[in-house]
Amino acid sequence: FIMGISHDLRTPVSLIKGYAEAITDGIINDMDSLKNSASIIGGKADQLESMINDLINYVKLNNTDWKQTLEKVRLEPFLADFAKSALNISSVYKRKINTFIDIDDSIEVPMDRNLVNRALENILSNAVRYTKDGGSISISAVQEGQVVLLSIADTGIGIEKKDLEHIYDIFYRGTNSRREQGMGIGLSVVKTIIDTLGWNIEVSSKLNEGTTFFIRIPLATDKTE
Ligand code: ADP
Repeated sequence: FIMGISHDLRTPVSLIKGYAEAITDGIINDMDSLKNSASIIGGKADQLESMINDLINYVKLNNTDWKQTLEKVRLEPFLADFAKSALNISSVYKRKINTFIDIDDSIEVPMDRNLVNRALENILSNAVRYTKDGGSISISAVQEGQVVLLSIADTGIGIEKKDLEHIYDIFYRGTNSRREQGMGIGLSVVKTIIDTLGWNIEVSSKLNEGTTFFIRIPLATDKTE
């Protein structure tokens, strides 16, 4: 487990040490260079912190019995909130975001809302990262009989065929990911959450055209109640 990430964790640490040493030895000494170095050290420490947080969250997710404490959540307002937060992103990043939520207002689904939110945010942040400026992202939720079909589609760089079967593996990073920072944890978290809830996730992707993640949420006809 640790071996898979030691390289990713070491890279920012080496940079931090390198700059700290250069400052201590007086190699970096004028005020502008010192400020610049401090800002690089700060940025790398932030990166390291977020990697450590991702790791801790991943371990926690797999070691707690969170399925025992699911609450019934009204799906329509929950998804509408997610869609709204996505629209806010579009003003920060240069991507057009379309949302279409058309499901019965009364539908309730057992879930851990923080975790499902995290899963959706992971998919969305990938869609944003792997889509170039000017591209678009569409979030839609429609009811199909006893299932709600939620899809998050982007017009991004797409995923190579040979990578598709591995994208949910922990620490797996696709061929297309070189220019992006990341540790290959995001989709493993998504898959764990969706599977644990008994939901289903599928992906369809075409290189240079885009990627769509489909999540099927079963509307349980729970006879035990
Ligand atoms: P990473 O930290 O590399 O983004 P993830 O687990 O979130 O890790 O995703 C695994 C891999 O799946 C990525 O490295 C990338 O190759 C691919 N991927 C995920 N989402 C998308 C997307 N929307 N468009 C293109 N590639 C994607």
